[in-house]
Amino acid sequence: MLSIAFGQSKYYVDNLSENIKRGNRQKLRRGEYPGKAPFGYVNDPITRGVIIDRKRAKFVKTAFEMIADGKNPVDVRNYFLAEKVCDRRGLSATYYDRIKRLLNNTFYYGVFKFNGEFYEGKQKPIISKKLFDKVQQNLKPRKLKSNKANFEFLGLMKCGECGSSITAEIHHKFYKRKGRHAEYIYYRCSKKKGSCNQKYLSGGILEDQIFENLKKVALPNSAAQKFKIWANEDAQEERKLSAGQIEILKVQLKEAEGKIDRLLEGYLDKIIDPVEYQKKKNELLQMKVTINEKIKEIERTGNNWLEPFLEFVETASEIEKIARAKKKDISLRNLVQSVGSNFFLTDRQLAVNFKSGGFDALVPPAGGTRSSQFFRSTLDWRNIVRDVGKILQRQTEYIYIPNLSPQN
Ligand SMILES: [Zn+2]
Repeated sequence: MLSIAFGQSKYYVDNLSENIKRGNRQKLRRGEYPGKAPFGYVNDPITRGVIIDRKRAKFVKTAFEMIADGKNPVDVRNYFLAEKVCDRRGLSATYYDRIKRLLNNTFYYGVFKFNGEFYEGKQKPIISKKLFDKVQQNLKPRKLKSNKANFEFLGLMKCGECGSSITAEIHHKFYKRKGRHAEYIYYRCSKKKGSCNQKYLSGGILEDQIFENLKKVALPNSAAQKFKIWANEDAQEERKLSAGQIEILKVQLKEAEGKIDRLLEGYLDKIIDPVEYQKKKNELLQMKVTINEKIKEIERTGNNWLEPFLEFVETASEIEKIARAKKKDISLRNLVQSVGSNFFLTDRQLAVNFKSGGFDALVPPAGGTRSSQFFRSTLDWRNIVRDVGKILQRQTEYIYIPNLSPQN
């Protein structure tokens, strides 16, 4: 009994939908949308067609234009909320999903979808297909990579107050009077280590500060030329010095060998007992090994500081050129990382720890307002070259050399 009742009602429903479908097919053939007009349009009770709702169509247009200008649906929603946009029934049109559907609806450029099929509509378009296509392109989820490329200094700095990493974000701004949309990059403390009072810093200001810091270690061309000459002079001097050192070491080596010979004779002549002989011989052999190592070390690392020094001069004079031309098409991040480390942001001020063995020596004295190198005297420059050379020498020396006075 139940199945018959259901069967009958199903027959009735099928019949009804068939009738509706027939009516719809005729409308579709004429390019008339058979459903309820979407937001921005209204069903005309006289012609039974769909006409533009002037009051709401302008919001549709603005919504598409905002996305085309790089805004996102949340921005459109905020704009709709501010304008208290409602549909014809007085219901709010500010729901996020509704706005996303609106931005996906081909109806606005003249093509509608019905039962999964597209039809060329007779309704007047509110936007062009070109604008619609651009919006679809902008709505596509962006790859993380291209997003990160905008944040050049992401992960570079830490917060000076709480030590959390500094993160970056894009802020969208819509200038209503000019109808212009703009994007701004901001850097701020991620506050991952708890509460923190630090405020946002705009990407532009951060970039200026990085430039200011780079200027501190920018080497004028005239100075760079002198640096190279002086460094080569120092290296020459050192070569003479190390040649002398090697000479002395070779004499010491000969002495140790002579001692071993005499020790053996003493042992063979039974002047020295076997235990004493073994002990002394061992000491002298160890000394020989140490002297040989020291000779090789001097030969190998004698002027090891020269190459990193010349590299430092190259980078510092390159920075000078970039800072002078205000070239911003280069990677400031790579550049600033080649001269410093431990970047901290405190009260919107970037602090850089300049690398030792060159860049730290170029930084003007603390408290000085001048960020240029031109105030330095020749003597000042000469001392920098000497000091940096010594520091680099120490950095490249990695084998400990014990005191080598051969006793016994
Ligand atoms: Zn912080």
